[in-house]
Amino acid sequence: MAGLEKKKEQVRILVTGGAGYIGSHVVKALGEKGYDVLTYDNLSSGNRWAVLHGDLIVTDLADKNALKKAIHDYKPDAVMHFAAHIIVPESVREPLKYYQNNTVNTLNLLDVMRDEGVKRVIFSSTAAVYGLPEEMPVSENALLLPINPYGTSKMMTERILKDLSSAYDDFRYVSLRYFNVAGADAQGRIGQAYKKSTHLITRALKTAKGEFEKLQIFGTDYPTPDGTGIRDYIHVDDIADAHLSALEYLIQGGESDVFNCGYGHGYSVKEVVETAKRVTGVDFPVEDTGRREGDTPILIADSSKIRRQLNWKPKYDDLEYIIKTAWEWEKRK
Ligand code: UDP
Repeated sequence: MAGLEKKKEQVRILVTGGAGYIGSHVVKALGEKGYDVLTYDNLSSGNRWAVLHGDLIVTDLADKNALKKAIHDYKPDAVMHFAAHIIVPESVREPLKYYQNNTVNTLNLLDVMRDEGVKRVIFSSTAAVYGLPEEMPVSENALLLPINPYGTSKMMTERILKDLSSAYDDFRYVSLRYFNVAGADAQGRIGQAYKKSTHLITRALKTAKGEFEKLQIFGTDYPTPDGTGIRDYIHVDDIADAHLSALEYLIQGGESDVFNCGYGHGYSVKEVVETAKRVTGVDFPVEDTGRREGDTPILIADSSKIRRQLNWKPKYDDLEYIIKTAWEWEKRK
């Protein structure tokens, strides 16, 4: 497929879930680079104030007529698709909710895109598609064997995208498999605002703030040096930057592809807790408890492919900075 011959300000990007945590940082980055942006979000977990650039349409992806109208009227050059449910333990309890929103609603989107001639999509995938990988760091070539419905719902979408790009020569996608996204905008305008967030850094900081009595550590008997789970934490602005690189790649006519988004090294739950205590200056209570359902012991990205092929260079590979920006944000709320 030939590249797109347009100036940046004429390139239109439809962002589903642009009012959510990661989506809003990408909308910010797109706006700062001068792209034309439209957010499509049902505000189930996002917020109107989080959309710093472009317009917002408040509707659901399940509403195919609304979706068709939005895409028909806006005529995007590419879609970035963030809108999804993302809580692993909830997906174990309520799988249908996850397959409905993450897989079936994505089918709606792809179907409408096809009808309306939109040929490029950047998809928010996840390291959860790997399940319990045998090799660590895990590369994009590893088998996809998710161990929870959240990971499966995303894997199914990746498969659909792959089949579409095989069927249609002019259809191109990039799937970005996120590892553990954390941190907030350096100016404190946006950050993780989802009240039900179960993520470790958010929970630790809310505990430091006094919103929770204690932080529970889920599992201290994992095969890791200190017995707690290890994850590759990546700053949300570096993730946003990966989307811009992926977009430029597709605009230049790049082939469909899949990339891990992480730094390539990890921290244990205990290391995160120690850093959070240091950054906040609060010695908040911590309790060791059993493993959480659906959790994997270690998840670290082999991120050499995105660095090499998309020339992505992370700027914030620093756990302390990640937690500091998240803490500044948390205190403002
Ligand atoms: N975790 C924890 N206590 C919490 C939340 C998370 O011990 O309150 C652990 C979890 O078991 C995992 C790591 O922190 O080892 C990261 O979990 P999170 O929910 O942030 O992201 P996930 O890796 O599940 O996507």
